Amino acid sequence: MIAFIEHSFLDEQNDAAQWQAALQEIQGTVAYDSIFTGLAGKDFGGMNRSKPLAVVRPASSLDVRTVIKAAQTTSYLTVAARGNGHSINGQAMADKGLVIDMRAIGDHPSINVVVSSVNDDNSPLYFADVSGGALWEDVLNRCVLDYGLAPRSWTDYLALTVGGTLSNAGVSGQAFRYGPQTSNVTELEVVTGRGETVICSESVNPDLFFSVLGGLGQFGVITRARISLQKAPIKVKWIRLVYAEFDDFTRDSEFLVSQPQEDSFDYVEGFVFVNSDDPVNGWPSVTLDSDQWFNPDFLPPGSGSVLYCLELGFHIHQNQHLSQVNSKVESLIERLSFVRGLRFQVDVSYMEFLLRVKKAEQQATASGIWEAPHPWLNLFVSKRDIADFDRTVFKKLLNGGIGGPMLVYPLLRSRWDTRTSVVIPEGDIFYLVALLRFTSPNQRVQDLVAQNMKIVRHCKNKRYDFTLYLAHYQTQEEWKQHFGNQWQRFVERKAMFDPMAILAPGQKIFSRNQKIGQLL
Ligand code: FAD
Repeated sequence: MIAFIEHSFLDEQNDAAQWQAALQEIQGTVAYDSIFTGLAGKDFGGMNRSKPLAVVRPASSLDVRTVIKAAQTTSYLTVAARGNGHSINGQAMADKGLVIDMRAIGDHPSINVVVSSVNDDNSPLYFADVSGGALWEDVLNRCVLDYGLAPRSWTDYLALTVGGTLSNAGVSGQAFRYGPQTSNVTELEVVTGRGETVICSESVNPDLFFSVLGGLGQFGVITRARISLQKAPIKVKWIRLVYAEFDDFTRDSEFLVSQPQEDSFDYVEGFVFVNSDDPVNGWPSVTLDSDQWFNPDFLPPGSGSVLYCLELGFHIHQNQHLSQVNSKVESLIERLSFVRGLRFQVDVSYMEFLLRVKKAEQQATASGIWEAPHPWLNLFVSKRDIADFDRTVFKKLLNGGIGGPMLVYPLLRSRWDTRTSVVIPEGDIFYLVALLRFTSPNQRVQDLVAQNMKIVRHCKNKRYDFTLYLAHYQTQEEWKQHFGNQWQRFVERKAMFDPMAILAPGQKIFSRNQKIGQLL
């Protein structure tokens, strides 16, 4: 036994010399320093710590390939692409492996706007070619300010990387119309777990293209993405409508997401809030401007412990007459069953609208809670079960709020491409439920995690049609259940593109050198 340990120790030392020598080829930088490895061992969730052996700041996709090739020379090294480290549960970490800081490629983000083809009516189709480590915020600035164009589908918060959200799905209030961000990308450059750089799209190397989208970093590192653009509006009419009854709220939001574009809003989201004057969880969290006031006298008698807010955005384009916009908006709102008197509205620039969460970030940073742990839970719950979820979770378990937003809004299955690796419920309409908890000093993180687990158990026990978004599990068996009948395909894809299980170990789906073929 001792001889074996000594042998493997020597082996590792030789291996280390070999992979470190391989990394010397890199044009970017390699840091072994604990300041860098320590930073790469943390994430937004703040609940996990896992130090890599080194952090590579690549200059290009060639460097990404070199890192993967270096890991291949050993039997134990793993590689994690790290976007902006905004995962909750260590998904972008590589314990004693190599972390690729994708922001380094994004430091001088290559964001090029191109016209690559024309529509049937001869109008041009615009795209942005974007490096995988670019922040969506950078994409916004470049496309809108320089070209008056914008991606169609966003996330609520934009300090996330293009590669990071495309590895999950990327959803916000535009997804009901255009699908998630994974439905709005037409071409990728990927460095696979085999160390091959491949261009892929729906028609070229489609297996890789669809594997990587929503693929949790398991198949390759996205080094470039081609994103569909459309004409950017100049302003947004941003509206919040309050509901006392969940039925009314869901009926109206499902109606709006199912209407044709000309009969609806451009952005539809919603959230649950507490029926009290609590500044974080209650009425004040609904108003959009400091001169607005939530008057509870408008609430119908007998309103419950929680209330609902439908959040809408209507795009205003250059040369559009405001009076026409206003009458269109009024005709849409007229049909909705919100509590009259509890309507809040502001007109903001398109940039201000898309950067709305940045403001909240600045406030939370100032008060110190941005840095505190974030035991978030994100679910997709089918329309069939959302009313029960409301009765048992929102109205009972969480009726005092969670110290942060409780989002709930509908999405249409038809806008999701089931060839990607994302797992969604079966129902035609399903709701994103996001419990975006901010931990206060008097709360224990483990209690909040336990409450999340209780909610997930409840969904399972009640046999809801639901899946976890941004899921994390501890065992392969749990992942197998998560993927259900898509597990076989996921494993086949892994065997094809990362057979040594080098990539994204923080997801805890496969372990290094696991015989992937035996799982088939
Ligand atoms: P990381 O956390 O760094 O990485 C996530 C995973 O992707 C890891 O497994 C990593 O290895 C892999 N990865 C990263 N880059 C690449 C790449 N280039 N190629 C291949 N794999 C890669 N999500 C939404 O859908 N909608 C929202 O509105 C939304 N809002 C958010 C707001 C906040 C404040 C936060 C913290 C998160 C939010 N998210 C939202 C979740 C977000 O999409 C995920 O956290 C996602 O992981 C993006 O973060 P990131 O770029 O920092 O990636």
